[in-house]
Amino acid sequence: MTKLIARLILAMLTLPLAGTVFLMTFLPLAVTSTTGGPDALAAFYTWLSTYTFVVIYWYFIWRDGIAWTRQRRDGTIIAAAAGACASVAAFTLLRAAVPQFDPIGCVFFSGGLAPIVFVTTTVILWRETSEERAARLAARGVEIISCLACGYNLTGLKTAQCPECGAEYTLDVLLAGQRPEAEI
Ligand SMILES: [Zn+2]
Repeated sequence: MTKLIARLILAMLTLPLAGTVFLMTFLPLAVTSTTGGPDALAAFYTWLSTYTFVVIYWYFIWRDGIAWTRQRRDGTIIAAAAGACASVAAFTLLRAAVPQFDPIGCVFFSGGLAPIVFVTTTVILWRETSEERAARLAARGVEIISCLACGYNLTGLKTAQCPECGAEYTLDVLLAGQRPEAEI
């Protein structure tokens, strides 16, 4: 299994795992509630722990595969804060717009916004730019295509014939014969 496949599987598990954290936090809080039932504060703590879990889990899945520029580093912190702010704003709006709506319902409803905002923002933020991709491949020596007979650099040529020694190839043979430098 490649690293990427492992990451994708772990990423797919974010939702069920977050759901587990949600229930594991909410149920004990609801049971031990002094008011005899779940209250808005229990709902808030539930979302707080769930959101904290999502932020940390999501970060640890992807952190090794991200080119950490200052912009990405700062952006990630802002994204985490923006998610929390989005939830607080949604809660405030919901309470103001529908005062008869149960506060616990408002917390549950608006709390879901935080992980969505965070994950969506980081997906955009952490994505590799085409320049970064080109630099990454170049660093691995992938872009250098050389003649199998004499080693002449054929990069950029429009034919699969070596101008140095005249050897002619089909594209599949030429590509199959390339030995990229050892991957790190
Ligand atoms: Zn050649």
